[in-house]
Amino acid sequence: MTYVIVGGGLAAAKAAQALREQGYEGRLVVVGAEPHLPYERPPLSKSYLQGKSEREKIFVHDAAWYADQRVEVLTGTSVTAIDRAAHEVTLSTGDKLGYAKLLLATGATPRRLPGDALYLRTVDDSERLRDVLASASRIAIVGAGWIGLEVAAAARAAGVDVTVLEAGSQPLLRVLGERIGAAFADLHRANGVDLRLGVKVEEISGGVRLADGTRVEADAVIAGIGVEPDTRLAAAAGLQVDDGVLVDASLRTSDPDIFAAGDVARAHHPLLDTHIRVEHWANALNQPAVAARAMLGQDATYDRLPYFYTDQYDLGMEYTGYVRPGQADDVVIRGDLAGREYIAFWLSDGKVVAGMNVNIWDVTDDIKALINSGAPADRAKLADPTIPLADTLA
Ligand SMILES: Cc1cc2nc3c(=O)[nH]c(=O)nc-3n(C[C@H](O)[C@H](O)[C@H](O)COP(=O)(O)OP(=O)(O)OC[C@H]3O[C@@H](n4cnc5c(N)ncnc54)[C@H](O)[C@@H]3O)c2cc1C
Repeated sequence: MTYVIVGGGLAAAKAAQALREQGYEGRLVVVGAEPHLPYERPPLSKSYLQGKSEREKIFVHDAAWYADQRVEVLTGTSVTAIDRAAHEVTLSTGDKLGYAKLLLATGATPRRLPGDALYLRTVDDSERLRDVLASASRIAIVGAGWIGLEVAAAARAAGVDVTVLEAGSQPLLRVLGERIGAAFADLHRANGVDLRLGVKVEEISGGVRLADGTRVEADAVIAGIGVEPDTRLAAAAGLQVDDGVLVDASLRTSDPDIFAAGDVARAHHPLLDTHIRVEHWANALNQPAVAARAMLGQDATYDRLPYFYTDQYDLGMEYTGYVRPGQADDVVIRGDLAGREYIAFWLSDGKVVAGMNVNIWDVTDDIKALINSGAPADRAKLADPTIPLADTLA
């Protein structure tokens, strides 16, 4: 019996680990397109990009671990097709590999723009960008999302002039809204970034031309305009796909022998009662244990709240929860927004649906408890740092 994991990222490595930890003894094959063992991406826009951490540190496991655990990792190899009836995948080498259970952990790939922009997804991209930052005197970044802003911070740390071009009225608008988005705009401007909001990029060619005719000169242009889940295999195999591979709360696709986890999975969340796709590290770290249990025929449900973090300059933050588009009708700040030491809460009908702690630590469990309580919170207590978070329900 063979279990096959498609994709060589964090979710793939954690799934292999979880299957062995949960007692799966059979043949286990990870097929990954990149020429590397599975590694973690967060350092690629932070410490690794800034030359502050070593390459060995990014790998989920070293080669000895896979050998010891009898996990075959086919690096530099893609799965090109799934034959569900034959329970078999085709590899880019032309070989076929039978499976009893299959996990799709194919992740996501950056959205592209026409022109000669650079992108940041892989360790190779990060090393290329590090070289660019070492020699460039000015760069332009298209998109003020997490990747764009983290690259901006790394570039400023390298002494490079940075222009960030964003179509929205604030950075990170879709996730954080106007007020907190503006706080991130202030952070970057305070660190010397030329942040231009509400601008439209017309052409990227040795710099950027904006729709109003303005030219932004740059030695390199980096685009961070979001990612698309890599659903090609799943769609071609006739699995249900809709902005991600659709899976139930046990991460099973519409085929009972095929599962999906990580950035590519759009899973039914039992507490939120909707399908969500989470493009963050913690999701790729934790979903695989549930997928592994389900692959082994056990009951398993993934019901963790989305969680992610960022580091930019001297700001570190964690965000917990999920806000549907247009759902938050109120934002409460506890602490010092301008001084960048605060917790922001997003509320819907008086209940906390998400919280973000900025330069304040060890509060994630309390924020989770507030959200999971599903009970209305007292606005004044939420805003008062002297009242313990556990005592802020109305
Ligand atoms: C630069 C950067 C910084 C980030 N920083 C943060 C952060 O600070 N906080 C946070 O929460 N999240 C962060 N993230 C997001 C986080 O890294 C992702 O959520 C995580 O990598 C998802 O893991 P995954 O295994 O699902 O997919 P991926 O990491 O995308 O891995 C999927 C792998 O599958 C391979 N693959 C695809 N198709 C096939 C195929 N057909 N056959 C074989 N292999 C295939 C791909 O080549 C890829 O290697 C960051 C991401 C990036 C790029």
